[in-house]
This record gives sequence, C-alpha cells and structure tokens, in this order.
Amino acid sequence: MTGFTRSQWKQMAAELALPNRAFINGRSVDALSGERFETINPATGEVLAEVASCQAEDVDVAVSAARKAFESGVWAGRAPAERKKTMLALAQLIRDHLAEFALLESLDMGKPVNDAYTMDVPNAAGVLQWYAEAIDKVYDEIAPTGLGDLALIRREALGVVGAVVPWNFPLEMAVWKIAPALATGNSIVLKPAEQSPLSAIRLAELAAEAGIPDGVLNVLPGLGETAGQAIGLHHDIDCVAFTGSTEVGKLFLGYSARSNMKQVWLECGGKSPNIVFADCPDLDAAADMAAFGIFFNQGEVCSANSRLLVEKSIKDAFMEKLLVRVRAIRPGDPLDPQCRMGAMVDRSHTDRVMGYIEAGRKSARLVHGGERIVLDRSDCFVMPTVFDQVSNDMTIARDEIFGPVLAVIEFEGEEEAVSIANDTIYGLAASVWTEGLSRAHRVAGRLRAGTVTVNGVDAGSPMTPFGGFRQSGIGRDLSLHSLDKYTALKTTWIKYRA
Ligand code: NAD
Repeated sequence: MTGFTRSQWKQMAAELALPNRAFINGRSVDALSGERFETINPATGEVLAEVASCQAEDVDVAVSAARKAFESGVWAGRAPAERKKTMLALAQLIRDHLAEFALLESLDMGKPVNDAYTMDVPNAAGVLQWYAEAIDKVYDEIAPTGLGDLALIRREALGVVGAVVPWNFPLEMAVWKIAPALATGNSIVLKPAEQSPLSAIRLAELAAEAGIPDGVLNVLPGLGETAGQAIGLHHDIDCVAFTGSTEVGKLFLGYSARSNMKQVWLECGGKSPNIVFADCPDLDAAADMAAFGIFFNQGEVCSANSRLLVEKSIKDAFMEKLLVRVRAIRPGDPLDPQCRMGAMVDRSHTDRVMGYIEAGRKSARLVHGGERIVLDRSDCFVMPTVFDQVSNDMTIARDEIFGPVLAVIEFEGEEEAVSIANDTIYGLAASVWTEGLSRAHRVAGRLRAGTVTVNGVDAGSPMTPFGGFRQSGIGRDLSLHSLDKYTALKTTWIKYRA
C-alpha cells in the first residue's frame, strides 16, 4: 500500500507540476514549430497538459547534440566507475520522487497509482541501479592467440542510440533502454509514447540534476508518425531500441533499410499461453496468478497471459476458482489506493478492446464481464472479461488485444497443450503449472517463448533477459545480454616480438 489516502493522492495530483517541454542538450525547450499535442487523463477525460510536439527538425537538433556529446567523450570517456556514480545518483533521485513519478504514470495512462508506487517506479530505479553496479564489473576478452600476437576484443559504445517506447509502463520501458545504453557510454534520443510522455521528460530533468552531461540524454515527446519516424530514418543514429506493437516494429526495420542500416532492436507484442496441467501443485495459486496474469495493468501488458489453457479433467474445478477471483476485480478510480484495475489508456484503445469483445461474443461463451463502464465521466473502463470454450483459431485467441480479456481453451494431454501454445505468431512469454519435474523441463524446452515460468506467471528481474521469439521481437532487454545491443565488438590485434 502507498501510505497515502485517496484524498491525499487527489490533493497531490491537483498540486503537481506537469513537465511539458522537450529536453534537448540539457535544456527544456519547445518544439521548433511551437506545436503541441494534448495528453489526456483517461480516468477523467480531462486534458492534463499540452506537450511539445517534436518533429524531424527537433530530432535533428537532438541527434547533433547527442553526437557532439558522444564525440567529446564527456560521458563515453568517463571511467565506468564514474558513470556508475552518476547513474546511482539518478536511481536515488527517482526514489526521492517516488510519489511524483507514481502520480505522473497514473494520471497519464490510467494505471492504479498504488501499482506505480509499489512496482513501476521502484522497479525503474532498481534497473538503473543494477546496470550502474554492473558496468564496472564487466570484463572484455583476450583471444587465445600464440606468442607474438595479442588480440584484444573490446566492447565499444555504438554512439547515438534512438529509443522509442510505448505507454503501458512509460517510465520502466524508458529505463530498460536508457540504463544499459548509458552504462555503456552512449548518448540517447528517447521518444516516449504520445499517450504518456510526462514521466520520461521528468526523468531527463532529474538526469541532468544527477550529473548526466548535456546532450547525453535527450527526451523528445512527439507523435509516432513524425518524431518516431524521424528517429527511425535518421542517418546519424547508430541503433534504435524499440518497444511497442509488432506492426510498428516492422516499420522500424523498413526505416533502417531506407536510411543507414542502423541496428534495430525490437520488443513487440505477445499472446502468451498459461498452461494449467491436471497435476498442478496448487490450483488456488494458479487461479490467483491466472487472474493477475491478464488483469494486472488492465491487461495492457506485452507478456499478459491472455490465453489460459486448462486440462480437461480439472477444467470445471479450475474455472470455479478462477471466476471467484475475477468477480472480486472491478475497474475503479486509479487514485484510490485499493484500486486493482484502472482506466484503459484512451478512448480509441478502449473502442478497439470492445471490438474484440464483440467478436468474442459471436464465437465463444462469455462467462464474465464484457461491459464498458463509465466512472467519473470517463468511459475508458472495461470490466475484466473471460471467454470460455475458445478455440485457438478464433480472433480473440490469435490477436493481441492488449486489454482485460482472457480466452480459456481446453486441452487434453501434453502434446495438445504444446501444440496450441505454440500455434501463434508471437513468442514472448509462457507459463506452465505442473508438479512433474520432468514435464516442467520437457514442456519449457518445447515452448517457443523468451521466458517460460513454471508454477508462476511472468517471472522476471533485471538479472534475466526479457524478449521474444518470432514476431515478439529481436534482441533482449535486461540482464548483461542487453549490453550487447548498445555496443560493438572491436578487435585490436597487436604483433610484438616474442
Ligand atoms: P505502438 O507500436 O503503437 O507505439 C509504440 C511507440 O512507437 C510509441 O512511442 C509510438 O509513438 C511509436 N510509433 C507509433 N507509430 C509509429 C510510426 N509510424 N513510426 C515510428 N514510431 C511510431 O505501441 P503502443 O500501443 O504504444 O504499445 C502497445 C504495444 O507495445 C503492444 O503491442 C505491446 O505488446 C508492446 N509492448 C511490448 C513490450 C515488450 O517488452 N515486448 C513491452 C511493452 C509493450
């Protein structure tokens, strides 16, 4: 719990200063065109702020500042232990501003403030800290040549990193890119999603306060088709790290091909299966996590367990347990500390989710929810929705809905479970509930997913890579492996007289 009451959160929200300008080369600036776009609180429909709408010309300015900072060595040239100190200071500043960040996240995209306060913001600070602490402990290599040759294999920063991130975890997704890119010495041009730009702008301000030099971290709010595309097509950006939909991820591959062949790292969509076998060790825990796995963050989670595969012999008993949990969840005011499900990010996304629910009604059996509800004059709230008797070829089992909609699919035996689970274009995450050690390893090995959690859902940490097989993406965020995305290997071969 947050320790604040609903009226205290509301009071703090009323007094909150909302950052609304771009942060380029160490300064808060308007877009060169002077244009702005509105960011709206989906829980009330009110305009929160009018934010600088950056365009290609602003991206040009930010990239040249980033390049200049990189070439000067003001950050890249610092010893890793020095970069560590500055990044740790930034992690601390995020913690010092915990309530402020939690509010920015909740107001901007509708998530429960309590979740942002207890998870998103502390996790973001934790990821920055993890990379800060790691970077002066990672060694390079010496090749096993013979006498007379010394071949050094070193990781070098790429230069200017473009980062384009989504709205579902605005601060965390930004930090997943920024932390390893900064740790390795790069300069960054980050574009937050237009639905949720506020926390990233605030992060850039605090980064300057922590001592990140001018030009090293630039944050440009703007629309996808303008600022996002300009980053994708820029000739002086060395790599783009993207998180978002598979559809837009593919555009970035095209942008790279049409410009300078920049490296493109993609964290995209998912349709993750959660498989409950009859030998599940704890059906209550599995029911708790099945509900959490799809309704947390309003179902707006790339790795949401949106397909629940249940073995026939336990299906009725399991559904009973699940529905007890689901009935206890209702969308509510995100500023209420008791709220477990907030508002969908905006009206058009709510419309999209409702379209899938209508499609589901025509093909499967609706056993809970299905309604859009109005709270505080906003109609961006969707009841937790469960469809039973789903077959894996239905649209609600194939498309990433990115909302609180669960598709329940029955199976008989391991073979069928694995085949349904893998019958998708995605491969981000999967869960398996079983008591059998051999089955756990066997099934985990056969599932085409970046993370398989056994007897839990969606386990993860800065220590472990996160990302997908197939059209869920290319590359991995988190862990030491993500340092590879922001560095190139250089061999220096020295001949000497032995
Ligand atoms: P989105 O693809 O619409 O937008 C993501 C970002 O791309 C935003 O900053 C947006 O402005 C930008 N963008 C949009 N159109 C663009 C264009 N034509 N050119 C350049 N940039 C453009 O995704 P979203 O709706 O913000 O987020 C939801 C998606 O993100 C879901 O598919 C979800 O699965 C995915 N996601 C994936 C992960 C992961 O780690 N795999 C994590 C979170 C979210």
